[in-house]
Amino acid sequence: MGVAVGSPQQGALGGTQAHAKDGSAGFALAKLEELVNWGRANSVWPLTFGLACCAIEQISAAASRFDIARFGSEVFRASPRQADLLIVSGRVSNKMAPVIKRIYDQMSDPKWVIAMGDCASCGGPFNNYAIVQGVDKMLPVDVYVPGCPPRPEALFYAIDKLREKIKAEEKLGVRE
Ligand code: SF4
Repeated sequence: MGVAVGSPQQGALGGTQAHAKDGSAGFALAKLEELVNWGRANSVWPLTFGLACCAIEQISAAASRFDIARFGSEVFRASPRQADLLIVSGRVSNKMAPVIKRIYDQMSDPKWVIAMGDCASCGGPFNNYAIVQGVDKMLPVDVYVPGCPPRPEALFYAIDKLREKIKAEEKLGVRE
């Protein structure tokens, strides 16, 4: 769906008129999907959530030295209903798995998941009966971050990849 935004002076089709330096915003042409995806990609709000040592790196990402606010993601929400990004940072035990699933189900749509670190991605060094061998066994993972633990910069790279993915969504984030 196309959207045209124009100033009253120029009109929505004012492209043929000379541009006046009057401080008005002018006009922009875009598809609705692109506008919505642009807004979503620049305001991904993570859930306040951590499981193990990788969570310390996740917490560091919000500190001034790294500054996750550059991505519009500094608002770590305390409620899953106000968050649209779940960063699984740490090993997922079988005991914790149903809790994580419930938290994910309570998050608002559209929502995304980052598996941060080897443990969340594939079980890491814990190849045993107590640990889920990758959170993608129970949730749809959008981006995997390798490392044990990954540094905050690696998490930023993952968020950047996620932003690219959100901007390319064609159905306004509806998962099949
Ligand atoms: S990947 Fe390494 S740092 Fe992260 S939770 Fe597992 S053991 Fe800890």
